[in-house]
Amino acid sequence: SLDLDLQAIRSQFPILSRTVNDKPLVYLDNAATSQKPQCVIDALSDYYGRYNANIHRGIHTLAEEATLAYEATRFAVQEFIGAASAEEIIFSRGTTEGINLVAYTWGRQHIGAGDEILISGMEHHSNIVPWQILCQEKNAVLKVIPVTDEGELSMEVYKNLLSDKTKLVSIVQVSNALGTVNPVKEMIDAAHAVGAKVLVDGAQSAVHLDIDVQALDCDFFAFSGHKVYAPTGIGVLYGKRELLESMPVFHGGGEMIKEVSFEQTTYNDLPYKYEAGTPNIADTIALKTALDYIQNIGKATIRKHENGLLAYATAQLESIPGLSIIGKAKEKVSLVSFIVKGIHPQDIGILLDNLGIAVRTGHHCTQPLMKRFGIPGTVRASFALYNTKEEIDILIAGMYKSIKMLS
Ligand code: PMP
Repeated sequence: SLDLDLQAIRSQFPILSRTVNDKPLVYLDNAATSQKPQCVIDALSDYYGRYNANIHRGIHTLAEEATLAYEATRFAVQEFIGAASAEEIIFSRGTTEGINLVAYTWGRQHIGAGDEILISGMEHHSNIVPWQILCQEKNAVLKVIPVTDEGELSMEVYKNLLSDKTKLVSIVQVSNALGTVNPVKEMIDAAHAVGAKVLVDGAQSAVHLDIDVQALDCDFFAFSGHKVYAPTGIGVLYGKRELLESMPVFHGGGEMIKEVSFEQTTYNDLPYKYEAGTPNIADTIALKTALDYIQNIGKATIRKHENGLLAYATAQLESIPGLSIIGKAKEKVSLVSFIVKGIHPQDIGILLDNLGIAVRTGHHCTQPLMKRFGIPGTVRASFALYNTKEEIDILIAGMYKSIKMLS
């Protein structure tokens, strides 16, 4: 069956039993970061309590155990996103670092004066700023795919923007501000037809959608552990092998080398070439625990539950007078962004917090998108597998109360 045992699931997340302002916590800020199940928390203390050691270089037992566990995560990630090989999985600090890695290595190698990089109007700042820096340095041109009133990408304009000048398309698969699911497969095929490479920002999609980087045929895919029930400080950059092999190195240091002399250094093979220094061992190990946790429940089961929450929340919110939902794409994942006429989003956020309800308010690191809609920001409620219909009822009651106090 595709039904979740919600009580059992909720009991696995210790934070969900705490109170905030004397009210039971209602955590609806999952697009910012998800909460962690006990098994993930245990994986961290198990590592530090039993086999903490630096990896790869050691021959002692602890180093070997830590190395095996660290590398096991690489295989788990390979499976999670359908990569052809584990060598194509580079560990990073998160989506931001993954995108920057591509901008500083592949970007410096391939982008020249007059070249075009195409992003979309709904990108997170982390998928805007690195390309701006690169374009400024190289005298290249950053172009933007416009967003429709519904919060979708204008595919017609996209196809017209593509040309033989386009060297890279870097797009978000799921918008963190609108919930829109973009047709990345179609976009990747169109980009490849003009010879451009494609980076997919999977920060919001990895937890909700089935990811198959080979079927998508994307050239790069970046995501963050902390949004897939894993710790902060660990993320993944996938790249096609031939690209990763031919790209210049990113950080220089230990681990990423084969041989160093003062005259010359040769670099390590994939994936170590891009993993300089002692990595984030504990959090990497716990990432596997989180991915196993998701796979054991099943993304289809999780998605069915979350889609139910999204539909219910959307209908309830739409019935509130003066409230408008921003982002009405046909395909969305489980988040809803909204504004209330005459009330600042932040004021709503503060009153909801008084009621124990955690939502995000503001621009969601998508200032150009907010500008496009002519708003300072939104209130965003984002759902995870442990959220309930009852929690949405609490949000709706909280909204009526807040609106009454603020109008
Ligand atoms: N892209 C999107 C769509 C995001 O939602 C986020 C996180 N809010 C990022 C990129 C950046 O991820 P991180 O902060 O984990 O590096």
